[in-house]
Amino acid sequence: MSAVHLGTVDAETDEDRSDLAGERVGRRPEEPQLPRDVRRRVDGPSQSTVVVEAVLDALPSPTLLIDANGTVLLANTAWEKAADVLGDDRVRIGVDGDYFAMARRLNGDDSTATLIDELRALSRGERPSVQADYALELRGGTYWVHLQASRVDQAGQVVVTHTDVTNRVAAERASDWRARHDTLTELPNRAHLHELIDAELQQHDRGPVSVLFLDIDGFKDVNDSLGHDAGDDLLRQIAQRLTGVTRAGDTVGRLGGDEFIVLCRDCDSTGAEALADRCRASIDRPFDLSGRMVRLGVSIGIATAAESRPTRVRSTDLVRDADLAMYAAKAAGRNRVRLFTADLRAAAQHKATVAAELRDAVADGQLVLHYQPVLHLPSGRCTGVEALVRWQHPHRGLLAPADFLPTAAQHDLMTPIARWVLRTATRQTAAWAAAGLHLVTSVNISASHVATGTLVADVHEALAESGLPPEQLVVELAERSVAEDVERTAAQFAALRRSGVEVSIDDFGGGFSSLGQLVALPTGLLKIDRSLVAYPEGRRSQAAAAIAAVVALARACGVRTQAEGVETADQLELATELGCTFAQGFHLARPMPAEDLSGWLAAHVAQPAAALF
Ligand code: C2E
Ligand code: MG
Ligand code: MG
Repeated sequence: MSAVHLGTVDAETDEDRSDLAGERVGRRPEEPQLPRDVRRRVDGPSQSTVVVEAVLDALPSPTLLIDANGTVLLANTAWEKAADVLGDDRVRIGVDGDYFAMARRLNGDDSTATLIDELRALSRGERPSVQADYALELRGGTYWVHLQASRVDQAGQVVVTHTDVTNRVAAERASDWRARHDTLTELPNRAHLHELIDAELQQHDRGPVSVLFLDIDGFKDVNDSLGHDAGDDLLRQIAQRLTGVTRAGDTVGRLGGDEFIVLCRDCDSTGAEALADRCRASIDRPFDLSGRMVRLGVSIGIATAAESRPTRVRSTDLVRDADLAMYAAKAAGRNRVRLFTADLRAAAQHKATVAAELRDAVADGQLVLHYQPVLHLPSGRCTGVEALVRWQHPHRGLLAPADFLPTAAQHDLMTPIARWVLRTATRQTAAWAAAGLHLVTSVNISASHVATGTLVADVHEALAESGLPPEQLVVELAERSVAEDVERTAAQFAALRRSGVEVSIDDFGGGFSSLGQLVALPTGLLKIDRSLVAYPEGRRSQAAAAIAAVVALARACGVRTQAEGVETADQLELATELGCTFAQGFHLARPMPAEDLSGWLAAHVAQPAAALF
């Protein structure tokens, strides 16, 4: 600050100055020195005071010289104009005015007390300078100054300059706000939510803390069918509704996608359940998306950190527990509320262990394929097999797909497993062919494999490696999986069929039975779900009507049919009568290891005919 130079224009000596300052010892050599007699401004101007005034006046920033009590000793012209520029008379203080009192008037929060303490410490020589961005609540709004203060002599006088930084602070605040909020809904984002929850968990005197984890049921359908603009509109409306039903002290935030969090302060699990019910009711009302009315549900998980919580509970723990509870709510049938329990964590840990073991199992050769014969009904010959995966677990024995595929799906293991199945099944089929057994092998794939976009390449790689002709491979995709992305599936099915690989829709009739799928998909085979084929007692004629309809429809589309889950001679007879081309089921044969197949064929049916697919 230019006050540094003031001493050099003063006629008085260092000796004089130190006398005035009272003590020479302890003065910092670099400390700027104002002439000793600036105080005389009150009594009448001296030469040095005039110089000080002139120098301060030359400064463009509003600048004051104050004493240890905040009393103004000098004020420059820029300061005197400040009140007019800012349009607030409360800034209009001059010589003898109380700077500290003015600061208190213009900013009532803790930062003023801190600032005054710091200026006093500076005046006592306990700190080298004070720098702060300081908010002034003026009549025209909040105004930010960067305040820079230096001690100028041993008597503790302090020069304070003020620079307008309102634009800079506003820009910083806006960017800080953007980093902590979701731009779409303007709610706190994931990172900020974790900060807020952690801050609340550290307040041990403020009671229990609950976290609601909300996942909107059916959001993806809206996004897929009505487009992303409608999806965005929907998310904004959801944000508004949730904010509308929560309590004043709660915080609603968006984790991302269709996942929201409500942080409930001073709220036990009973209170959180009541709040969750209000959230559910708010989402239950139809949404108006540019004139289209849409109904949704929401699955909500709740985790609560009790009042007497251990100090180590962190936001990540609480959100993870609430997430587990939300998954349990979804699994129980959606649009429900579930409280977190220790069992859920144990189950999640078990799944994580299974996932880790499963990852190794693929590499360690613990997966095995069993093959279930497929009968060609017009000829009565076994013309193919379906490859079905099992896990030979080192401790738990032979595990069925239902025991591990759901975990595999949750841990991105479906595609690695499918690649292994494709390699193994094509190699086995080629080996049978080399031994004179000509079979067509079906392999199941998952929707996630279609989504990765590597399916066609993976199939071709397996065929190339094994040398199996493409006509001896069928790729099966369940009806419900096709529905996840019909367009993408259609493109990949078409590519497979162009290369000679047949594709089939599995479990048709067990889910949506979308006739649109039959029309949209280039498929050659429809597998009629066991729920239609293995009809309940007394429902033969109804089952017959349903099967006949599917067969007729498929035939009209040039698609062959296969009855799945044939468990009795009567069901086999029905499938044959109604014109199904193929049949598969326990009545014919159970899935079996590859080495048992030729024995079974020899014992049960005539030698398989040449490829009939
Ligand atoms: P899916 O593809 O529909 O396979 C037929 C399932 O029905 C097999 O069960 C088979 O053992 C069973 N099954 C066959 N005939 C009968 C019957 O007459 N009665 C009864 N009750 N069941 C019968 P599995 O092997 O337990 O497989 C279940 C499902 O797991 C499969 O259904 C398929 O969706 C999936 N899966 C099996 N292997 C794989 C695989 O390698 N990859 C993928 N992505 N999924 C697989
Ligand atoms: Mg199948
Ligand atoms: Mg099936």
